[in-house]
Amino acid sequence: MDKKTLKILEDKLLEEKAKHEEELSRFAKRNPQNEDDFNADFPQLGEKEDENASEVAEYSKDLTLERTLEASLKDVNKALERMKDGTYGICKYCSKPIDEKRLMARPTSTSCIDCKKLFTE
Ligand SMILES: [Zn+2]
Repeated sequence: MDKKTLKILEDKLLEEKAKHEEELSRFAKRNPQNEDDFNADFPQLGEKEDENASEVAEYSKDLTLERTLEASLKDVNKALERMKDGTYGICKYCSKPIDEKRLMARPTSTSCIDCKKLFTE
């Protein structure tokens, strides 16, 4: 992969990282011990019974979103690490280079299209 393509992909990854972190920071706090871990804040709406119920509903929605965003963030961070150690863009199953078009569409891809088909069908 040429340096220019790699740079474009790195920018895409950094952009995604910032977006996920921004979204998470709206309702969760970063664990100071582990930068990949976020904890959703428990919403405080009030003390009435229906308010408590809404809090729980809100919280469980946040937890689901938190897990989704956290997983995406981890994928992005892993991809950035692979860029640093030079294994980025290599299929984890067959060790062949992943198609650049595939990486452009999904910069966190870790497998080529052939292997993806093989392992998901
Ligand atoms: Zn492969």
